[in-house]
Amino acid sequence: QSARKFFVGGNWKCNGSKQSVQELCEAFNAGKNIDFNRVEVVVAPPSVYAMLTRSILRPDFGVALQNCWVGKPGAFTGEVAVEMIRDIGLSHVILGHSERRHLPEIRESDDVIGRKTKYAIDKGVHVILCIGELLEEREAGRTREVNERQLSAVRAHLSADDWAKVVIAYEPVWAIGTGKVATAAQAQEAHSEIRSWIRRQVSEACASQMRILYGGSVTPENCLELAAQPDVDGFLVGGASLKPTFLDIVRAYQ
Ligand code: PEP
Repeated sequence: QSARKFFVGGNWKCNGSKQSVQELCEAFNAGKNIDFNRVEVVVAPPSVYAMLTRSILRPDFGVALQNCWVGKPGAFTGEVAVEMIRDIGLSHVILGHSERRHLPEIRESDDVIGRKTKYAIDKGVHVILCIGELLEEREAGRTREVNERQLSAVRAHLSADDWAKVVIAYEPVWAIGTGKVATAAQAQEAHSEIRSWIRRQVSEACASQMRILYGGSVTPENCLELAAQPDVDGFLVGGASLKPTFLDIVRAYQ
């Protein structure tokens, strides 16, 4: 289909225990029939379990954090710096997840997400950048505008070369954790608009290489139809990444 390597991220959110992390990593290590030359797989545990996850999982799997601090380490109580992500051997960080954008206790701004993205890339950490519209924004016909606003806020901080270290996850907020998956046609439409924005605002080369993941209630049952869309290059998976059958979603590249 395309030259873009399929990418599947698993976002464990704020779930798990030492025991469940160990069991899940062992189940993933035992997974068969996955060609890691054709699919990149990254899981994002809660930060306190990141070292444990990295130490158990086989090296074919990347490990990410779900968030990071916006700049250098220092007097920022409760935060985790990008330098620490590198120090413990992690490859990626998820930024701009809708829960961080919209939960009233957090409310991260578009601009802070852009600054975090730049800082992470400068320190050699790859970014899984989440964007997506709320239900009322979709119903008002504003999906494209919202995606482009969130992307523009990141672009304001990035050079054209920086985008090579970004994977975009389109995650309509109404589909996250709700069991309401976007239709394959809805996903394809948004992904193709996002790719065309990159073509116009960054470059043709960047647009053709950019992995655009779909996220929102992806399961082993619905992933194949989504993966068949020309602009769907993988998934960011929440709830279904907490089970060994996550690997069936990873195998959607086949
Ligand atoms: C997510 O958290 O990125 C996500 C898509 O969650 P879920 O798969 O549970 O909808």
